[in-house]
Amino acid sequence: MLIADKMKLVIFVSIIFVIFCVFNYFFPFLHNRGMNSLVLPKVAHADSGEDFVMERKNMVKYQIVARGVIDSKVLKAMETVPRHLFVPEEFRRFSYHDNPFPIGLGQTISQPYIVALMTEMLGVDSDDVVLEVGTGSGYQAAVLSTIVRKVYTIEIIEELGVQAAERLKSLGYDNVDVKIGDGSLGWPDKSPFDAIIVTAAAGKIPEPLIQQLKHGGRVVIPVDNFYLGQDLMIVEKDAEGKVDIKKTIPVRFVPLVEGKDDKQ
Ligand code: SAH
Repeated sequence: MLIADKMKLVIFVSIIFVIFCVFNYFFPFLHNRGMNSLVLPKVAHADSGEDFVMERKNMVKYQIVARGVIDSKVLKAMETVPRHLFVPEEFRRFSYHDNPFPIGLGQTISQPYIVALMTEMLGVDSDDVVLEVGTGSGYQAAVLSTIVRKVYTIEIIEELGVQAAERLKSLGYDNVDVKIGDGSLGWPDKSPFDAIIVTAAAGKIPEPLIQQLKHGGRVVIPVDNFYLGQDLMIVEKDAEGKVDIKKTIPVRFVPLVEGKDDKQ
């Protein structure tokens, strides 16, 4: 074989190898190993069996405390609520990993750190009444329910809302009421709220939510920004009713859908 031919062969094999590596990097799902092929976080998980106690402790330590969440009520809630019972069965063993997961119908349960961070940002306490917009799986509502007096949560997709309500009830989170409807309108009958959390990204902060917030209260909400991303915003209403809006970190949420009537 001529040297030139050998060179061509080496280049050809190298190109094939590089293509294989790139493909492998971007499409880990194509190994036909189902969810095993998810890119897993680096933290080692001690398998503590079906109740996932160790996984929850590791999640709090390595994903939440390590990123600066310090509110002991929030940390306790995250360590207590069985996240694996809020995700579809096929994701159960991955439920304490550092990512969001699909919960069906195009929606997601948020990454544990984001749930903890948003809960901490609300600054709530045991006497508070909180409104959540975007029930989804019910996980965020369950976390809140261990901290506050009462949680009202609204979901626009009936099937998800009904499932979440049943799940919350069966797990004993009795201080949570779920309603099907457009949460951007708030829940006027139950207002005013000490805090409001929105777990879907809004084009702009819905006015009814600000109206239904108590003086001294907070809304935590992801809002679309100019750069096609979203920012997590904290809206504070002071004792005189003056509203101040602060931008915090960039986030990624499913969109807040507006315009459907309440079904209750
Ligand atoms: N907090 C959830 C995750 C929320 S995902 C959890 O812990 O699992 C966002 C949810 O907001 C989705 O279920 C979506 O259907 C819902 N949603 C979107 N627009 C809404 C609206 N206008 N009112 C109420 N829920 C809405």
